[in-house]
Amino acid sequence: MTPIPNGKTNIVSNIKHMSYKIAIASGKGGTGKTSISVSLQHFISKQITNQVQLVDCDVEEPNDILFFPEAKKNKEHKITQLIPEIDKAKCIYCRKCADYCEFNAISIIPSAQFAEVNSSLCHSCGACLVACKNQAIREKEHPIGQVNFYQDQNKVDLVEGVLKIGSAMQTLVIKETKRQVSNQNQIILFDAPPGTSCPVVETISDSNYIILVSEPTPFGLHDLKLMIALTKEIKKPFGVIINKAGLGNRDIYDYLQTEKIELLGKIPFDRNYAVNYANGDLLKAFPQKISDSFHKITDKLQRRIEL
Ligand code: SF4
Ligand code: SF4
Repeated sequence: MTPIPNGKTNIVSNIKHMSYKIAIASGKGGTGKTSISVSLQHFISKQITNQVQLVDCDVEEPNDILFFPEAKKNKEHKITQLIPEIDKAKCIYCRKCADYCEFNAISIIPSAQFAEVNSSLCHSCGACLVACKNQAIREKEHPIGQVNFYQDQNKVDLVEGVLKIGSAMQTLVIKETKRQVSNQNQIILFDAPPGTSCPVVETISDSNYIILVSEPTPFGLHDLKLMIALTKEIKKPFGVIINKAGLGNRDIYDYLQTEKIELLGKIPFDRNYAVNYANGDLLKAFPQKISDSFHKITDKLQRRIEL
């Protein structure tokens, strides 16, 4: 390890990939995925490298930024989707475009001379443009979201994907958000949306390592099993962080032991930590036992990155 001037450690020479990508995911909302993502960004920047970027891919409800009140937005990038529009002056209502559309996004009612594209169902595949022989369809850009870039004096580097209200194109917005991320950072943390659907797969699929966050309750275990099945399906290495440890029961620990799944760490339930989280003050002061847990987890991550 090469010490760098601010006391942090430079791991450039130890990372085989240009950026080591870690996704933080959970099978359901409310497990503490955001607090763990934000806290990991903090501890990794203190213990491993200051070249760590946090990417909020929970595009329907991105709230990592709330924990960085000093951060200023220094750039934004609009995300658009090409949606076909039907020119009724040229349309002969033959329905060919609707027959070609696999997503049922086009409605044609010849008797009413009705022709319309439902932008929330359209996947911009372009098939209808090929189908129409009357040049009655052309594409127009529709906004579906944007990517925001933030930094603060402490060099917190945060990228945030935001879905436009009313748009159903989470996966496209996540894909574009990830495309905008700089691979110059040594470590990139992707805060995934909750659940096990397509937006989650888009977020975690190219990660080097996935952290699954759960809690020691029957619901937590149920959703963790779904996430583990997904993670195994995409053949990615993963470990589990149990949040609010000390509450609930032991079933989740027994399950991890039986299945030989890596328990990366436990974050004990702590009232002050929960209050700090609720006030957006998570990074101001960590209770000692929380801090100790994150130190251990970050050490384990460092060993994994160096492998
Ligand atoms: S294929 Fe073209 S002409 Fe036929 S209904 Fe669709 S837009 Fe109209
Ligand atoms: S671009 Fe594809 S998904 Fe969109 S309306 Fe045309 S055929 Fe349907």
